Amino acid sequence: MNRQPTTNNQQPTTNNQQPTTNNRQPTTDNQFETVIGLEVHAQLKTASKAFCGCENRYGAEPNTLVCPVCMSMPGILPVVNRRMVEMGILAALALGCRINRRCKFDRKNYFYPDLPKGYQISQYDQPLAEFGKLHISGEGFDREVTIVRAHLEEDAGKSFHQDDGTQLVDLNRCGVPLIEIVSGPDMRHPEEAAAYLNEIKTILQYIGVCDANMEKGELRCDANLSVRLKGAAELGVKTEVKNMNSFRGVVKALTFEMERQIAILEAGGVIEQATMLWDESKGEARPMRSKEESHDYRYFPEPDLIYLEVPEGWESEIRRGMPELPAPKRERFTADYSLREDIAAVLCAERPLADYFEAVTEYGVEPAAAANWITGEVLRIAKGKGISIEELPVDPEATALLLKRISEKVISASIAKEIFAEMVETGASADRIIESKGLKQISDEDELLNIVRKVLDDNQPMVEKYLAGKTKLFGAFMGQVMKATKGKANPQLVNEILRGELGKRE
Ligand SMILES: [Zn+2]
Repeated sequence: MNRQPTTNNQQPTTNNQQPTTNNRQPTTDNQFETVIGLEVHAQLKTASKAFCGCENRYGAEPNTLVCPVCMSMPGILPVVNRRMVEMGILAALALGCRINRRCKFDRKNYFYPDLPKGYQISQYDQPLAEFGKLHISGEGFDREVTIVRAHLEEDAGKSFHQDDGTQLVDLNRCGVPLIEIVSGPDMRHPEEAAAYLNEIKTILQYIGVCDANMEKGELRCDANLSVRLKGAAELGVKTEVKNMNSFRGVVKALTFEMERQIAILEAGGVIEQATMLWDESKGEARPMRSKEESHDYRYFPEPDLIYLEVPEGWESEIRRGMPELPAPKRERFTADYSLREDIAAVLCAERPLADYFEAVTEYGVEPAAAANWITGEVLRIAKGKGISIEELPVDPEATALLLKRISEKVISASIAKEIFAEMVETGASADRIIESKGLKQISDEDELLNIVRKVLDDNQPMVEKYLAGKTKLFGAFMGQVMKATKGKANPQLVNEILRGELGKRE
């Protein structure tokens, strides 16, 4: 993600929103501090739904993955999905939370067409887990965000508003298990919120409980945002921002809301508590009608479910299955492989990519060379083809062989790029392509010497200019030799020979 180099003390100005602010004191920009907390909903990728046996799958024909329980026919009884609880515990542990030995489910009552029961089974005052923390850092910030709680609940269905004013409902999503992760009001800039959300996404993907694709709604987030004078002890009046459907959308929506609040305060106004709906196409957030946001959920314990007990043994069994998480992996990559932090971050952004890197090094490739190649060529080609690292038809062993041929100077790095592209297309090994296409690097000194001499003889005027002091022409000679050898000449050797030969002609 591209992060702007802004921090909480460098907030974007609001000049374009307030024509009068041109005359304000120059200190105004630094006068305010933004406070952000996030509520993240993540779908747990269990095989079946939270309280019934229906398949939990995205993209099926509308209303085909339903049963009396998730359509809420009279007389139904929910049954808790054990995998949902296990995945919830794993996620909560990965977020540093304390698992409550005992928690309960509650009904959250509200009316909406995509919620046929008229209530959502959620957890209110006794959630699955509490007191977690997540460390985030980036350009200008380094922060520990508290996780107030993580609880389990079921998803609602989906409504589709038609152009003719009617509304269609798809209940396939009804009863899909969710974990809701609530942060403290600890973030100080929209970019921090995006970094926090991204870290949650990476963790959930690492532990395999959620694919966290925001476009598919697998990961969703609402934010609470307020602004206060710097140094103030009390929080300002907050607004809730909803309907952010991408990482970029989160930054844009929160920046919009932050600037809106600052502009109001600078003009001497007061912030009114509201729920703001982000409109991605218009690039603005506007308040929901107050009728729509009057929640009184009348939570009460779900009478059809008993307390959920999590014995210590179950928790520790789940903990034992925890893979290495992104943050410790990044640290290990910088420490053990001496990689730069940003390179380690790119490699560790996806577990399969990190695994691929480690597998290549296990075949004896220098970590720096492997990291360089994977963050460069491998990612470039995978992105260009729109495939994941797991779908890449070149396995780590084949990539390692190619990289060894570079270090052995059999091929140059630039030829290796061509070879790699062909490996991806054909599945052939590096050696076979080198052999069949005659791409072996020319490291024969006599052969190169002849080519260098011919290039110099053919370019006598250039040689004279070079000898007269235009030393920049050296690169042009190199280029000529490379052209004559179709890029196969060993560049280091050409460099040496060329210097020697030009020296002789002085
Ligand atoms: Zn069902």
